[in-house]
Parts: sequence; C-alpha cells; structure tokens
Amino acid sequence: MYEKMINLLRRFGVEAEASKVFHEYVPEDKLLDFDGIIVADSKIPSRPIEKTEKLKIIQKFGVGVDNIPVELCKNRQIYVCNIPGINSLDVAEFTLAAILSILHRIRERDHMARKAEWSARPKVLSERLTGKIVGIIGFGRIGRQVAMLLKPFKVKILVYDPYVSDETIRNAGVERSERLEQLLKVSDVVTIHTPLTEETRHMIGWRELNIMKRNAILVNTSRGAVVDEEALYRVIKSGRLKSAHIDVWSIEPVPKSNPMLKLRRVQLSLHQASWSVNFFTEAAEFCVENIMRVFKGQKPLNVVWEVMH
Ligand code: NAD
Repeated sequence: MYEKMINLLRRFGVEAEASKVFHEYVPEDKLLDFDGIIVADSKIPSRPIEKTEKLKIIQKFGVGVDNIPVELCKNRQIYVCNIPGINSLDVAEFTLAAILSILHRIRERDHMARKAEWSARPKVLSERLTGKIVGIIGFGRIGRQVAMLLKPFKVKILVYDPYVSDETIRNAGVERSERLEQLLKVSDVVTIHTPLTEETRHMIGWRELNIMKRNAILVNTSRGAVVDEEALYRVIKSGRLKSAHIDVWSIEPVPKSNPMLKLRRVQLSLHQASWSVNFFTEAAEFCVENIMRVFKGQKPLNVVWEVMH
C-alpha cells in the first residue's frame, strides 16, 4: 500500500517517503519535515504537532483517529481527516466468515484433512447458522452491514444499541433488545460493533459472559478493551462458551505471552478484519487525493473535528 501511495504522490510531483515504524510512536523530529502525513495505526505524538510550522494535514488510512492528537491539531489548524465507512463491508464480511467458520468447524476439518484422518470424520460435525438467534451489539455502519449480510440465513437478529432510532431498527428488519442482558441471554451468536468509549470499556465482562447461552459464540472485531479479555479466557477455557473469534486485542500488537494465543477453542486474527485488497486500493487513492486537495489550496474531505461532538 505504501508503494502505491508513494507512486501516486510522485506522479503529482510531490516528494514522498514511507516510515518504517509500525504501531509505535513515529520519531518526533521526523514529523517536523512534512507538509502532510498519511498514517494507519502508528501513534502520532503531540510534541511535534505543537512545534511544526509546515504540517497542514494528517490523513488517516482508515476510520478510527485514536492514534492522532485531534484536539491539538484542531487548535493548530492542522486538518485531521479519515475515511468513514470505507472498510465497513470488509469487517462485516469477515464477521460472517468468522461465524460460519466456527459453526462449520473449518479449522478442525482442515487440520484433520492434513493428517488424512478419514475415519475420524464423524467426530467433527458442524451446526447450521440458519434459524439461530444472532445478537448485534452496536448498530452503526458495520453492525447494519452484518445484519444485511445475515438476511439470507433466516436468522432472528436482535440489536442492542440505545443510540439508534426505532426507524433504523424497523428499516433494517431487526428487533431491538432494550437491555444488553436480554440479548446476551437468548443469542446463539453475539457480535460486537461498538466504538471503545468509557461506557463500552469492558462492557462484556465476567458477569455478561456468564449470562450468555451455554455454547454460544462471541465475535469481537470492534476494539479489544470492549471485552474483558481475561474473563473471556477463563470462560472459554472452562468450556462454558463454544468459541470466540478475537480480531482486536486489549494490548496491540498482541504480546506472544498472551495466554489466549494458546487456547485452541478460539479463532484468532491480528486486527485484520478490514484488511482487503479492495479497502487498501480504495483507501490509498482516497488518501492521496485528499492530501492533494490541501496542497492545491482546497479544503479536504472528512475533517474529523467538524463532525465530532
Ligand atoms: P459506527 O460509529 O458507525 O457505529 C457504532 C455504533 O455503536 C453506533 O450505532 C453507536 O450508537 C453504537 N454504540 C455506541 N455506544 C454504545 C453502547 N454503549 N452500547 C451499544 N451500542 C453503542 O462505527 P463502525 O464504523 O460501525 O465501527 C464499529 C467498531 O468497529 C468500532 O469500534 C471500530 O473501531 C471497529 N472497526 C474495526 C475494524 C477492524 O479491522 N477490526 C475496522 C473498522 C472498524
């Protein structure tokens, strides 16, 4: 993705270079050199933002801007822009794939096939998604796409999101769960799509996990800290839940010592639910075009502080 953006920028006659740091703080003095920055997950420190005389725009390669000091940028009139919704469908498709993969035991069957354990086949039976109850926590861009993709499976969809209107719920053809507990109690599959806020931090903890149906599945592609990871580890290990798919982690990059990595009953990925060729290509083009707007003296699209409350 870096090469594509660098090539596009150079085609516009802009000098461009890629930083080698990933998911760490970008070296501070380096940031003072640039008129524009495109950033994915690396953290942008505050100090150079206070000092820079050149920087005009920080363009997020994605949606969440929690790695950028937005307020400070706003005070210094440095644009901070994102690309809302660009990868919602990728995360929604991934969520569906994760659910189906667990129910149809794709990992175990693959493992068995590689050992050619033909006679052991009846030991690994799958379960249909069709007819189950799916609980969606957070009914924004991704939550709604998940509901849309689930439609052909004839599942009952329950939604817990106190902030969406009855009209949104009605139009999506889903049922509102007034209380989180109510959704957890009856759902066979629970999938989380809220932002991480003070209210949602550890929203799914020991108590909530134990309210869930025995043998239910939990999928988290939102933010790691929405789930109490330690409690989830204990609940899965005890065999109370069937399985979980964890894409997002309480600490990222996830340390090799995290015990969840050794738990075979969970399905794991490394914050990659949105990483598709389609997203990378579209995002690279958007980021370059938005940066170029500013360099040409125009206002960029999606300035985040204009829509922040
Ligand atoms: P969104 O803002 O469109 O929707 C979030 C929804 O959560 C909103 O409808 C909001 O009302 C609801 N919500 C807020 N607080 C809530 C609460 N306490 N209880 C229930 N619902 C609540 O966000 P989105 O674009 O759909 O993204 C959802 C999540 O997915 C975010 O955490 C985002 O960071 C994450 N995400 C992950 C990946 C990945 O690769 N894993 C990629 C993109 C987004």
